[in-house]
Amino acid sequence: LFEKCKGQHILKNPALVDSIVDKAGLKPTDTVLEIGPGTGNLTKRLLEAGVKAVIAIELDPRMVLELNRRFQGTPLSSRLKVIQGDVLKCDLPYFDICVANIPYQISSPLTFKLLSHRPIFRCAVIMFQHEFAMRLVAKAGDSLYCRLSVNVQLLSRLSHLIKVGRNNFRPPPKVDSSVVRIEPRKPLPPVSFKEWDGLVRLCFNRKNKTLGSIFKQKKVLALLEKNYKTMQSLQLTSDAETGDEKMSVDDVALLAHMVDELNMETGDEKDDDEMEMDDADMVGEGRAFFKEKIMGILQQGDFAEKRASKLSQVDFLYLLSLFNNAGIHFS
Ligand code: SAM
Repeated sequence: LFEKCKGQHILKNPALVDSIVDKAGLKPTDTVLEIGPGTGNLTKRLLEAGVKAVIAIELDPRMVLELNRRFQGTPLSSRLKVIQGDVLKCDLPYFDICVANIPYQISSPLTFKLLSHRPIFRCAVIMFQHEFAMRLVAKAGDSLYCRLSVNVQLLSRLSHLIKVGRNNFRPPPKVDSSVVRIEPRKPLPPVSFKEWDGLVRLCFNRKNKTLGSIFKQKKVLALLEKNYKTMQSLQLTSDAETGDEKMSVDDVALLAHMVDELNMETGDEKDDDEMEMDDADMVGEGRAFFKEKIMGILQQGDFAEKRASKLSQVDFLYLLSLFNNAGIHFS
């Protein structure tokens, strides 16, 4: 059970370990972060590739012991530092590159933790569960395209490197895997992540509905109107903080808080009924006017008949800018 909950599936195929290390494009000056080194098959190859240092974070004290024993007294040991701990709970050290065969249950929080780390790393080459990997790299129109794809792709460029069958591991896991490259975008797109995620979350809540029907929902209109009024009153008292926000490190760090939700995301759509609320608080001409304003913005960008499942990064950025320019905010 211990092994199972830690996702301890050891890579057994040396050719595969070699090709993961090859794809990382390591330089002699690189400090490499490895997460979950286990018994050290990947660690050994990383050290042999001649990098400056490997810092390995491993949760299981027995593995840490075994790892230290494996390299003790060898010339490789002076460039290896093993930290015992939970990678999600500890402060990450400086690193240039992350190379890891991770336990799959931490995929989403780990990805966002890496992307919010500063200074930002050059690239990460990580083994994920195949389906998670396909969601990461999915493009508009692909069946696995979801909030995870859009949010990770806002912060990084992704590429699928190698599909890995379950028999490359001991014990074999129940699912196939894929190695993915993550290259953080430099600079980050000039948007507030809170705004971005607010919009994307609304749109993907019912990703196959048209934006016209999503933004007609009373609950959505009520939320946007509330934000609109808050913004207006803020603008009256102070101009600070209401201007164009750029994505800050703190913003990116916020990502860590949404990851549990993303983990649970199944791609299932919510029931229409669940999204509706009664009309009681949605009366009056003010509301009708506000709804017209929102519909006007959607039409302006030709978005009313479009669906989130088909919208690209650029589409979402454009839509967000149309809303924000009209004083409509999502956070
Ligand atoms: N890298 C090794 C390999 O390729 O053979 C082992 C990979 S195994 C899939 C995952 C490793 O991550 C296990 O050694 C496990 O103990 C460790 N682990 C699990 N959860 C962790 C966490 N939260 N932080 C750090 N290591 C963790």
